[in-house]
Amino acid sequence: MICSKCNKRAVFSYPDLCKKHFISYFENNVKRTITKYNLITKKDRVVIACSGGKDSLTVLYLVNKFFHNVDAMAIDEGIRNYRPSTLRDLKNFCSKNKINLKIYSFKKELGMPLDVMRNKSNLVPCTVCGTFRRYLLNSKAKGYTKIATGHNMDDEVQSLLMNLLRNNLELSARLGPKTGLIKDKRFVQRVKPLYFCTEKEVMAYSILKNFPGKFVECPNAALSYRMFIRDMLNDYEMKYKGTKRNIMNNFIKTLPSIKKEFKTEQLPNYCEVCSQPSHGKICRACQLLETLKNKALNKKQAFISV
Ligand code: SF4
Repeated sequence: MICSKCNKRAVFSYPDLCKKHFISYFENNVKRTITKYNLITKKDRVVIACSGGKDSLTVLYLVNKFFHNVDAMAIDEGIRNYRPSTLRDLKNFCSKNKINLKIYSFKKELGMPLDVMRNKSNLVPCTVCGTFRRYLLNSKAKGYTKIATGHNMDDEVQSLLMNLLRNNLELSARLGPKTGLIKDKRFVQRVKPLYFCTEKEVMAYSILKNFPGKFVECPNAALSYRMFIRDMLNDYEMKYKGTKRNIMNNFIKTLPSIKKEFKTEQLPNYCEVCSQPSHGKICRACQLLETLKNKALNKKQAFISV
């Protein structure tokens, strides 16, 4: 296979490109997304939400390369045999690239790690994890104007399909390169510079750049609905090349009208417990935490009375 831009051996197919041309194709794609959708400007104070996986290291590296002086933030959910090694990679990467890194853990901030929470809740671990991760990211990003995440095209197409199959168009209205429907001083805007990059492209870029990371998957991932959708989409993509990009291009065209339909001028409430923006009087994270703590207490009381 030969590079479509020169005569060198291609390291990537569809598009067929050699190492040098693939790296510049990828970086230009990210740069174009940032500029076209006005994701980040020089005036922004940006923090990158990182897990230590290939997507977050790629977005961290590129946003730091384009804008300098970005910070990294990681949430340690407390997942045995998984998170410690990705955090180790992230720490090494940040120290090598002189990037300031802050890590907040479920255990310290919420009183228990995800491995304990999952035994106390009937919800799938990803639902609990996602709720608290979003909550901590927003509350700890105070002082920043943007949170950049490593979401790629595959992630977005999976979310779209999940929302479609669950008949939840309002959730799709919050998607896009810039998330959310309302502006509020306590919501830090989230942006996705890798929005138009496929997972395969991000993986190839991170390998060609020698980023650390073992490409391990969270042990809870197999239990999630998203994984079922991911496998189905990958099957389609194998049989019908371009499926994911077609879904994405179609969504991007309809996104402005979906956003308009669900846009509300009404500002959110503020949670009576933690003061974070919330749909109801008490936010989802505080409600969930209360339930988990009560379960822990009931278990302890049952144990004492035996
Ligand atoms: Fe959390 Fe689920 Fe992702 Fe694991 S796969 S880190 S549990 S959201």
